[in-house]
Amino acid sequence: MDTANLKKEIAEYSKEIGIDKIGFAAADVFGELKERLRRQQELGYQSGFEKGTIEERTEPKRLFPEAKSILSIALAYPSRMKDAPRSTKESCRGVFCRASWGVDYHVVLREKLEKLALFIQEKIPDVETKVMVDTGELSDRAVAERAGIGFSGKNTSIITPEFGSYVYLGELITNIPFIPDEPLADGCGSCTKCLDACPTGALVQGGQLNAQKCLAFQTQTKGFLDDEYRSKIGNFIYGFDTCQVVCPYNKKVDFHVHPEFEPEPEVAKPQLKPMLRISNREFKNTFGHIAGSWRGKKPLQRNALIALAHYKDETAVDEIISVMNDDPRPVIRGTAAWSLGKIGTEEAFAGIQKAMKDEMDEQVLFEMEKGLAFEQETAEI
Ligand code: SF4
Repeated sequence: MDTANLKKEIAEYSKEIGIDKIGFAAADVFGELKERLRRQQELGYQSGFEKGTIEERTEPKRLFPEAKSILSIALAYPSRMKDAPRSTKESCRGVFCRASWGVDYHVVLREKLEKLALFIQEKIPDVETKVMVDTGELSDRAVAERAGIGFSGKNTSIITPEFGSYVYLGELITNIPFIPDEPLADGCGSCTKCLDACPTGALVQGGQLNAQKCLAFQTQTKGFLDDEYRSKIGNFIYGFDTCQVVCPYNKKVDFHVHPEFEPEPEVAKPQLKPMLRISNREFKNTFGHIAGSWRGKKPLQRNALIALAHYKDETAVDEIISVMNDDPRPVIRGTAAWSLGKIGTEEAFAGIQKAMKDEMDEQVLFEMEKGLAFEQETAEI
């Protein structure tokens, strides 16, 4: 089998089907990553969203015994939104992080990788392949780093020389022994902008992330958000981009090459008030096709309440009071009470006091007390 020629043909075909960058890596054990993951586990730095055991995540042959090579692909996504709607006094808006603009990248990348697998099958009928995008066991980033797609930045993103870190990654494992590409040299040098800018200190040191403190992770949790994080997520209702935005490699990087990834401004920067009472059907119709909907509507509604508090949106008080009174989910009722306290109008405090009389849930009551305590703080100032 002329693997060198096949590699060339795959690279050419990948361009034809809209893959911005492709690299080839050996399917060997990711030894360094294994050590890092063990340390992360010991320190309690994992998010809990990881799939598979550490061995499955670092030994490609456990998933695919015949694995010889892994093809890594990258697709660039936009960093700027044209005609982005702005918040007004009457209608404040939340925002989804850039990686959740446009159609869910899992769907788009999977389709490209499946086309790539078919292309290889036409050339080598008995080839075996396995496609993965983000939710598989393997680390997309470790594969991309080994395949020379980009270097691993101190912010733990893969940074490509062409598209910065605004790339989606996916991979295809095969039993064909392709000649691997060379990894790129580290490009961070003495820069520490991402570490300095992280509002929670989640980037413990260059390349080491405490996922539990990462605001991108926190926006996806379903319980009550710690107060520290509430004050820091601002108007982000899904994900958090700061460690990418400050990176010099992302300066002036803004690729609009895939129509699928173009943000729909009303979806990517939605009005917050209507989100509080959105029905399941409406939620699916409006947000079901974007990556940021994968945890359902509860975390987004909780974050919308926090964003309204961030704006101190007095026009939302009536709506938040009715959510606090009627919503069956304690996390939403409690966060609503906290949000009212933060907004801090007389009506907001009166609403909390009234609702307290009927509230039975202890955590919600605790949040109501916290909400009322803001009245005290305001009075003392
Ligand atoms: Fe590296 Fe600086 Fe970018 Fe962080 S901000 S990933 S340190 S280049």
